[in-house]
Order: sequence, then structure tokens, then C-alpha cells
Amino acid sequence: MSKHIPRQTIILQCQACNAIHDPAQPLWACPNCGGLLDLHMPAAFPWEIMQSRPPGLWRYREALPLAPETAVVSLGETITPLLAVPAGPIDLRLKLDFFFPTGSFKDRGAALLLSKIKELGVREIVEDSSGNAGAAIAAYAAAAGVQANIFVPASASAAKTAQIQLYRARLHQIPGPRIKATKAAQIAAQRSYYASHVWNPYFFQGVKTVAFELWEQLDGQIPDWVITPVGHGTMLLGLAKGFEHLRQAGAIDRLPRLAGVQAASCAPLVSAYQTGSARLPDLVPGPTQAEGIAISQPLRWRQILQAIAASHGDLLAVPEAAIAAAHRHWAGRGLLMEPTAATGPAAFQTLLERQIIKPGQVVIIIITGSGLKSAAKMQKTTT
Ligand SMILES: *Cc1c(COP(=O)(O)O)cnc(C)c1O
Ligand SMILES: [Zn+2]
Repeated sequence: MSKHIPRQTIILQCQACNAIHDPAQPLWACPNCGGLLDLHMPAAFPWEIMQSRPPGLWRYREALPLAPETAVVSLGETITPLLAVPAGPIDLRLKLDFFFPTGSFKDRGAALLLSKIKELGVREIVEDSSGNAGAAIAAYAAAAGVQANIFVPASASAAKTAQIQLYRARLHQIPGPRIKATKAAQIAAQRSYYASHVWNPYFFQGVKTVAFELWEQLDGQIPDWVITPVGHGTMLLGLAKGFEHLRQAGAIDRLPRLAGVQAASCAPLVSAYQTGSARLPDLVPGPTQAEGIAISQPLRWRQILQAIAASHGDLLAVPEAAIAAAHRHWAGRGLLMEPTAATGPAAFQTLLERQIIKPGQVVIIIITGSGLKSAAKMQKTTT
């Protein structure tokens, strides 16, 4: 297999008008129609070469859309642990995907995106997020020497905005609902580059490395289920892209089933999935501990539903009490996760009770965020 991917074989394609764009341009949306872009690249996976490098996302270089000569922006990422835990007749493993410099899996996307941004010669970027994505982009921008502007709703949690500011990003606090921060970021992005974890196709390319690591850690075995929280779908779509890449490369011959989990108080994807609706419901989200997936209008919703259908997966909502119980259960066993991440173990229980997950199956739950940022807040609500 060839060592380097010729650059011209990577394309950016618009989901709305199908136009194909040159990846040498710093694009984050279709210049013709403003549609969402997807990145397509050859499914190279030269394991002989990859396995000679240190573990972690950069060992999969040939499967990532970077020029061979690009020096990557790294903060010392390593392969995240896959922890086997007792679950009766189920072979259950937790992918501790918060073992990253900023405490969440968003570093996968940020590391690849900032490496690309350096390659493109972009000096200043814009992102909007109220939490982990903003922190990840801010940290990797700092490591890359790129100026980050992070737009957050004025209501964003203090622990996360402090983290963003400590990375020396410019913090723009926008009063009103979350959507106002997005609007402000998009106006600023007209003069800058939008390093959005939702719009920017490179972010998803970094997240797909989680599938490569699972393939490696399971010795090429395909899990029956991979369960993950889903808001905007960066983890879910990253998993789908990663496993599809492995399938096209001939490393696996089928896809694992993907189960996306939402909090019942904000579950637009679950309603669209259950009703087969051609549009997202206009819902008013209720309060939830799972702040990382409190997304009422996930832009890539069609793509998320397609990925779940293609994997014969499932999409389900879990109530607040089940999230709190799962959070407490695992903290009491030494594993402190972000409440958003506790939706995964909560959904596992539901899938078991519904006998959708069956004895003998291999099940992976992606634990997406560390509990350290939210420990003080959770202690207040439980004591
Ligand atoms: C971002 C995030 C998610 C969900 O990711 P989406 O891309 O919005 O689907 C889940 N858990 C944690 C801890 C996160 O930071
Ligand atoms: Zn278009």
C-alpha cells in the first residue's frame, strides 16, 4: 500500500448541492450555497507502517486528511484506555475517551483541525461552544500559535469559561440563548475561519480515530454495539466514518451497531427517528444535567439518522433520574465522568432491559468527558 495519500484525492463535497470543492481552500461551508461540507478521502489503512509508530491518533496518519509534510499540532495525546467491566453475560468495555489534555474526546477533532489550520496558513479562528469543544479548540489553538475567538452564551458554566480563558483564547460572552452565540460567531467568521465542531468537516476526521483505536484494542474484532451520547453528533459521526473507513480498507467486513443517546428533556433526534419525520421538531428543551448534549437543533441530523440506520443501530432517550443514577454508580466505583457521559451507561441498562442487547455480545460505551469539571456542581445537587 502506498505510504502517502496524494493530496488531490481528498475532496470536500456539499451535502446540499453536491458541488465538489478544492481542499486547498480554507472552507468550512459550501461557497455556492452555504451547505454543510463532508470530506471524502481514500480508505488507506497501511497497518504495517502505522503499528511501528507510538500509539495514539497520529499513528493513523495515512488515514487522516493532512499533507505528508505537515507537522502536527500535538499536546501528547495517547491511545485512550478500554476498560473491561463486569456486566454478567455481556462483554462490556468502557472506552475512557476523556484521557486527553482538555478532559474530553473533543481533543481528537481539535488536534486534527488545528493541524489542518496550520497547514492552510490560517492565523485566527472562531468557534462557538459553551463547553468542551470550546476548551479543546482553545487549547490546540494555543499550542498551534493561532488566535482563537470563542463565543459562548453568557450562561455558560464558569469552570469551562475559565478553562477557555486560561488557554488565552478571546472569550466573547453573548447574552441570550445558545443560538445567539452561534450567530455572533458566524458573523465574526466572515472575516476569519470558522473552526466549528459542527460545520468544519476536519473536526469529524479527527474524531474517527476513536474507531481505529477500538479496532486495534479489540484485535480486529467488531463489537456488536457502540453506545455514545449524541448532541451535534461529532462522536457518533466520527465513529461511523472511522468504521466505514476500516470497512473500505478491508480491515473489517461489517459495521458495529451504533446507539445514540439523548437526554429525555432534549431529544430532537429521538423524536425525528421515532416519527420518521422529514424535519426536526420545534422543541423547547427542559433542564438537564447532560449539558454537553442539550442541543435542540443539531445541524447534521439527517446524516446522524442515516449513520444509525446504516449500522442497524438505535437512538434512545434517558430520563434525568437514570443519568444521575449512572453517574453516582460509576463515581462510587472510582470512575468520575461528566454527567453528559453518564447517559451512555444509563442507555446500556435500557437496551439490556429491552433485550436489544443480548447475552454474549461485545458492547462498548464511549465515556466522552471527565467528571472533574463538573464535580463541584454535581456535589451541590447530590448533597
Ligand atoms: C460534545 C460532547 C458530547 C456530545 O458530542 P456531540 O458532538 O454534540 O454529539 C458528549 N459528551 C461530552 C462530554 C461532550 O463534551
Ligand atoms: Zn452547496
